[in-house]
Amino acid sequence: MTTYDIIIVGAGPGGSMATKCAAEKGLKTIFFERGRKPGEKNSSGCGLGPRLWREFPLMMKELTPEKCPSLRAGAAARNYFINSEGIVAGYIMTRPTESVSYEPAKSWITMNCYRNEFDPWIAELATNAGAELKTSTLIIDLLKEEGKVCGVIDEHGIKYKASVVIGADGAISMVAKQSGLRSKWSHTQITAVPQYDFHAPPNKIDDIMGDEALAVWWSALFPASYQVFFNDGFHQGLGNWLDKWDRNPLYYLNEVINLKYYQRLLKILEAKPRELQCHLLPWLKFPYNTHTDGVILIGDAGGFPCPLEAEGIYPAIVTGKAAVECAANAITAGDVSKKALSNYDELWQKTSVGEDFKSGEELYNIWKALPFSPKETMSWFVPMFMEVMGGIYDWSQPHATRVREIASQIKSYMPQALPFIMKYVFPLIAKIFENDLDKLMDPSKLMTVLPKVLDMIPKKKQRGGIN
Ligand SMILES: Cc1cc2nc3c(=O)[nH]c(=O)nc-3n(C[C@H](O)[C@H](O)[C@H](O)COP(=O)(O)OP(=O)(O)OC[C@H]3O[C@@H](n4cnc5c(N)ncnc54)[C@H](O)[C@@H]3O)c2cc1C
Repeated sequence: MTTYDIIIVGAGPGGSMATKCAAEKGLKTIFFERGRKPGEKNSSGCGLGPRLWREFPLMMKELTPEKCPSLRAGAAARNYFINSEGIVAGYIMTRPTESVSYEPAKSWITMNCYRNEFDPWIAELATNAGAELKTSTLIIDLLKEEGKVCGVIDEHGIKYKASVVIGADGAISMVAKQSGLRSKWSHTQITAVPQYDFHAPPNKIDDIMGDEALAVWWSALFPASYQVFFNDGFHQGLGNWLDKWDRNPLYYLNEVINLKYYQRLLKILEAKPRELQCHLLPWLKFPYNTHTDGVILIGDAGGFPCPLEAEGIYPAIVTGKAAVECAANAITAGDVSKKALSNYDELWQKTSVGEDFKSGEELYNIWKALPFSPKETMSWFVPMFMEVMGGIYDWSQPHATRVREIASQIKSYMPQALPFIMKYVFPLIAKIFENDLDKLMDPSKLMTVLPKVLDMIPKKKQRGGIN
């Protein structure tokens, strides 16, 4: 039986980063991948955020179009608002704003690429650093001595021993289960995400979408749906927590695809469906049970995708690095007990991932209640928002009359909007600005003022006229 310092199960972005860091520290490291090559078993594409370049500039400089031909940088994001008749009631295109402080993020918001290029690229960084990669190898159990984890067992019964095992094996983590850290995610902790992968000619994408990186489709008809553009195609997908689906998720995804506007877009982009996929993605308020004796969980296995929009690659890479930092110290000290590995939680919580989870509960709650509650919330949110954005484009009335009509219409949404603001928006604002709350408005005072302001809005005036 071969013995290693660290064994890593899974060669996704988290596993490969952890392996790279361990090998660079001179630790004897092996990582296992059940796919024939890294990236074969994942969602086929992704958007990489600028935090990766900000935090790991030397590594990310190596991700060139030669190594990753699907790479496509985009500076614009579009938000489509679909009304309950399935019509695009409006859209807003946004670009990086003046307050963006990280210079590269002023020219692109995401770099999009296919995982069958990205995952092998990052895995190669790990093997170049001296680690051993075993592909087409399914790890089915953990090796234990006196009840403590000390390695892994593959599907052929071959045993591998190590001081620390890192679970980088994604949403349905065998390591989490067999180490006793978690049996299953609850329905409020995991999302099912079906998506279509479309092929489209690169020149069509460039000519029609310009520098748009992605789009979000907001509607009362389906949970928020995302669109990500690669160099020769795009994804259209949507997800929701398992407790939120009342029908087959594909029914809702097809609602997007069947929109008249969407069909037009497919036609002008000359898009052809290439693949239909469905994956699970953990989406938590806060990661818990992240480690035990001789075991650390990272990335999806540990529940680290961002609590707001489930960006998962950056957190997997950051937690992979933190896990190795912690494991290396524990191995040197000769103590890999749960207590010794508890430093892992301190390490990841100090990172930008930890910063997001500080307001994890509030971010999770508002997101779940807004775009992922189409019937309950988006049914009033979309018309209210479009009233604000587009109401003024009506030239059939005098302008002042129009403004009064818009205000009155907006007021009619307040019975739904005000409780929503109280329940979800104020707690988030209070959390984000908790150290400066005294400088901001007092939410309870605001709630006494707001109804008075609303009372000042006149009722719809009878239209006067000349006889
Ligand atoms: C549809 C969809 C779209 C997404 N889009 C984005 C996006 O645009 N940007 C973003 O940042 N994130 C995105 N995410 C989230 C992101 O994909 C994950 O958070 C990220 O891949 C997590 O990385 P990981 O290394 O923890 O796990 P994974 O990427 O899941 O890697 C786990 C690896 O372990 C292997 N494995 C599993 N079990 C075993 C085993 N027993 N033995 C051997 N190997 C095993 C798997 O084959 C896999 O390669 C998306 C997720 C989904 C589902």
